[in-house]
Amino acid sequence: MRLENRIALVTGAGRGIGRAIAEHYGREGAKVAVADLTLESARDTVQAIEASGGTAMAIAMDVTNEQAVDDGVAAIVEQWGGLDIALANAGVQHIDPVHKLAFADWSKVMSVHLDGAFLVTRAALQHMYASGGGTMLYMGSVHSLEASPLKAPYVAAKHGMLGLCRAVAKEGAEHGVRSNIICPGFVRTPLVDKQIPEQAKELGISEEDVISKVMLKNTVDGKFTTLEDVSELAVHLAAFPSAALTGQSIVVSHGWHMQ
Ligand code: NAD
Repeated sequence: MRLENRIALVTGAGRGIGRAIAEHYGREGAKVAVADLTLESARDTVQAIEASGGTAMAIAMDVTNEQAVDDGVAAIVEQWGGLDIALANAGVQHIDPVHKLAFADWSKVMSVHLDGAFLVTRAALQHMYASGGGTMLYMGSVHSLEASPLKAPYVAAKHGMLGLCRAVAKEGAEHGVRSNIICPGFVRTPLVDKQIPEQAKELGISEEDVISKVMLKNTVDGKFTTLEDVSELAVHLAAFPSAALTGQSIVVSHGWHMQ
C-alpha cells in the first residue's frame, strides 16, 4: 500500500472526483478525512471506505468558511495526531458569457475554488510545518492552463489555483512541504452532467454535440477522463517521495491539453 498510515484530508469528497480519490486513498492505507458541505453529504464516502476495511471520518466543512476550515483541520489533528496530505478539491461550475455574468455567480465560483484553496492551505501548512512536512494537492483543471468560452469565473479561479500551488511549492520547500496541481480534462460527474444541457442551450447545439464537438473535441481519442485516471494520479502525487516533483501541474486529459 502506497499511503500506509498517512493522514489525508480531501475537500468536496462527498461525491464525484473527491469521493473517488478519498476511497482510493483509503484503499492505499491512508486515514481519510472526508470533508463536504455537511456531515450528511460526507457520510456515504466514509461508509464506503470503512466497508473496504479503511479508516475515515466525516467533516462538515464549507471551504469558504474560515472558521469551519480551521476547526475541521484542528479536529483531524486532534483525533489522528497530524495531517500529511491535504487536497483542495471542492468545486462548482457556472455557465454564462462574461457580458451576462452576475457578480454573485462570479464571486461564488471564485470563492469556492480560490478562497477555499487558500483557507485549506493555510490551516494545513500550520500543522505540516510544525510536524516537518507534508503534501499539498490542488484539483485544478485543463482550465488552469487554457480557456473555454462560457466559463470565465471557473477558468480564472483554476488559473489562480495554479498560482497558489506554485507559491506554496516555493514557500513550503524549506519546511518539507511539496505542492502540486492535478489538471483533469472532462470527467463524467454531476458537475459535468449539469453543464451539458446548459451549454447546449447557450450554444444552440444538441447535447451530443456539446460532448463530441466541445468537451472531447481536442482529445486524442474522443474519450472522457475517468475517476480512476484522476484518483490514480492523486495517489501517485501523494506518495511521491521527494521534492523533485513540486510546483507542477500534471494534466490528465486524453491529450486535450499537451504542455
Ligand atoms: P461534483 O459536483 O461531483 O462534486 C463537488 C463536491 O464539492 C460536491 O460533493 C459538493 O458538495 C462539494 N462542494 C461544493 N461546494 C463546496 C464548498 N463550498 N465547501 C465544501 N464542499 C463543497 O464535482 P466534480 O466533478 O467531482 O469536481 C471536483 C473538483 O474537480 C472540482 O474542483 C472541479 O472543478 C474539478 N474538476 C472537475 C472536472 C470534471 O470534468 N468533472 C474536470 C477538471 C476539474
